[in-house]
Amino acid sequence: MFATGQASVQKNVTILGSTGSIGVSTLEVLALHPQHFRVFALTALQRVDVLLEQCLRFQPRYAVMVDEPSAGHLQQRLQAAECPTEVLSGRAALEQVAADPETDYVMAAIVGAAGLLPSLAAARAGKRVLLANKEALVMSGQLFMQAVRDNGAELLPIDSEHNAIFQCLPQGRPVPGVARILLTASGGPFRTWSRERMAQVTPRQALAHPNWSMGPKISIDSATLMNKGLEVIEASWLFSLPPAQIEVVVHPQSTVHSMVAYNDGSVLAQLGNPDMRTPIAYALGWPERMVSGVAALDLIAMARLDFEAPDLTRFPCLQLAYEAHARGGYATIALNAANEVAVAAFLNQEIPFMVIPQLVRDVMEWTDSGTPDQLEDIIIQDEASRKAASCWINNKKMQ
Ligand code: NAD
Ligand code: MG
Repeated sequence: MFATGQASVQKNVTILGSTGSIGVSTLEVLALHPQHFRVFALTALQRVDVLLEQCLRFQPRYAVMVDEPSAGHLQQRLQAAECPTEVLSGRAALEQVAADPETDYVMAAIVGAAGLLPSLAAARAGKRVLLANKEALVMSGQLFMQAVRDNGAELLPIDSEHNAIFQCLPQGRPVPGVARILLTASGGPFRTWSRERMAQVTPRQALAHPNWSMGPKISIDSATLMNKGLEVIEASWLFSLPPAQIEVVVHPQSTVHSMVAYNDGSVLAQLGNPDMRTPIAYALGWPERMVSGVAALDLIAMARLDFEAPDLTRFPCLQLAYEAHARGGYATIALNAANEVAVAAFLNQEIPFMVIPQLVRDVMEWTDSGTPDQLEDIIIQDEASRKAASCWINNKKMQ
């Protein structure tokens, strides 16, 4: 359908987190294909100006502003501009638009645990779910994958590594003969820094990723390598593989987005420029290919591709994620919640960079093993871990 450019049935797309880095890239790709996609709903936490501009340009049926006062401002400004978009507010409205019968595709691009309920609502409603919100799978992998299977949803990974693996597997699913997944990691801005230097890093330094332009939380996670840890857990759920078959390889150029090694010695890789519009276009168009707006990869200009092992002593968060996954869902929820609190505290200059893994380790140690099978228990564990992490920080401040 995309190759010929012929008109076909338009798919209605809901973007959860449309004002963020992934949300904006998604709208850029959709804007290239107005004949195939209609923007049905856009959602944001509180950035009125950005959501207003998106509504005026894409004229969605709904705009959800989670923050109620911000929703009021958006409503007034849309009315003044005679834009017919209906404004909703509150967290339940996120689930409402994700599961709306008219929604075909849901881009799940809210950051952190806040994305769990609306992403899950999309899966339960049997949508095509384009999953960027890795934290949702880290928290609820078993329950989420079951919801996808039970409701006939289509789950397409947006994370560039998982999208690459999906592309390197026949039909995107693991088959007999897969030996390992090789998950590539850029190594972040501190790949070559000493421990002593890393003790002094500022939020500004940690936010400056060498290859990717992303939201603040995932940028810090990339600097600690927690992002890669979360991605190991994500890959394990998406591709039904034990963590022992998921190996992290540091690849500073971020050109090889990940690889699949087969037991005949073949290694398949997906390469491309570090630009999220490629995996987004792939997931929107699948099983066909469509233009993304990304420049062609110039291998001659690239000249070399390097690979090295991750250093788990300077980047303990990666090891913590493997440990959490081995212990079960309660521990991965604790890992994720403590990390979210720690990242926010680091960005607020309340804790130093190297304290992030200490805080996560301690909160994980206070957590039971095993896996919750009810959504309510997942939410209770998430809240308890956040509370524990906040207390940990307050105690440190008083010392
Ligand atoms: P971002 O911070 O740029 O954007 C986050 C979006 O979520 C915004 O639209 C914001 O309004 C919304 N949001 C934040 N908190 C919310 C809340 N409590 N309730 C409702 N909405 C809320 O983040 P991002 O970099 O676009 O990342 C989004 C997700 O995609 C994350 O899970 C991240 O790990 C994943 N991801 C991002 C990239 C990337 O290149 N940015 C790559 C791979 C995966
Ligand atoms: Mg990634």
